[in-house]
Amino acid sequence: MSEYDLIIVGAGPAGLTGALYAGRSMLRTVLLEKGIPGGELLNTELIEDYPGFESVKGFELAEKMAAHALKFGAELVTDGVVSVAKGADGRFLATTESGAQYRAPVVLLTAGGTPTKLGVPGEIEYAGKGVSYCAVCDGHFFRGEVLGVVGGGDAAAEEADFLTRYASKVYLIHRRDELRASRIIQRRLFENAKIEVVWDTVVESIEGTADALAHLALRNVKTGAASALPVGGVFIFVGFRPNTGIVQGHVEHDEGGYLITDEVMMTSIPGLYAAGDVRAQLTRQVTTAVGDATTAVIAATRYLAEWKER
Ligand SMILES: Cc1cc2nc3c(=O)[nH]c(=O)nc-3n(C[C@H](O)[C@H](O)[C@H](O)COP(=O)(O)OP(=O)(O)OC[C@H]3O[C@@H](n4cnc5c(N)ncnc54)[C@H](O)[C@@H]3O)c2cc1C
Repeated sequence: MSEYDLIIVGAGPAGLTGALYAGRSMLRTVLLEKGIPGGELLNTELIEDYPGFESVKGFELAEKMAAHALKFGAELVTDGVVSVAKGADGRFLATTESGAQYRAPVVLLTAGGTPTKLGVPGEIEYAGKGVSYCAVCDGHFFRGEVLGVVGGGDAAAEEADFLTRYASKVYLIHRRDELRASRIIQRRLFENAKIEVVWDTVVESIEGTADALAHLALRNVKTGAASALPVGGVFIFVGFRPNTGIVQGHVEHDEGGYLITDEVMMTSIPGLYAAGDVRAQLTRQVTTAVGDATTAVIAATRYLAEWKER
């Protein structure tokens, strides 16, 4: 059993920022990451909205963030966390896949989340080359193009509307004959002349050349009719699952499973902080992840000082 002041779960932008601030605050910190540090940055070709970097490759920003974070003394361990539980003494116990155990009075959960995939041929091949899961991040790459958006909930409808700032036309492809999105979002969608809804339709595959996506192979689920929709890109919004399942016991969350925090990022479990994509908030970006983690660690430092005086 290893004892620390702070355990950080996940080394994406939020976890790496947390480690940086924790190191500078002289907290004994362990950063537990199941893969390579960088999180979703590693799945992002170019980042063009991180201040100070007009255009930077995702993996480059990840490497810079990791080197900077570890410079101040946080310890990085490559191991997946399988559970985080608060003990009777008020300390948290984090258990990893390898069976190692780490104990600390404070945990910062920065495990991010995973966009739900359609699971169709071409989705992985064209990821970052026409297939995207983030309109704010990638919309501007598709100026003047025809786009497909897949989904029928709030995210799909809102992002279809957002994408018309760039696209000449957006087809919203939905497998049912009505949307799940809220009434007000639907109204905005239907009033937008650049959007056409393709009802009762699923994407069967995403197709193109070696370099670029060219069209979506569609199938109408009622008639069975197949068609090809030429698009420059497709944005998929069929769900996003925050990685919160490792926390034992009840933590307050919203209907999407995102953790609800107070203004200093503490969850409903005292001493358990959450930052970045796991947290319920308006948007999920690199800038918001690093901002959340900064606030969380500064607040956690104070919490820890009070905890030690008890
Ligand atoms: C395709 C794509 C493109 C994007 N483009 C942009 C963009 O251009 N600009 C922008 O600002 N944002 C962009 N985003 C959003 C941005 O990447 C995220 O908001 C940001 O990475 C969130 O950081 P995070 O640290 O909260 O989570 P993540 O980046 O998801 O990192 C979470 C980390 O936790 C680790 N982890 C998960 N579970 C465990 C566990 N049990 N044990 C140990 N480790 C664990 C994961 O391996 C991962 O490294 C994009 C997202 C996607 C998916």
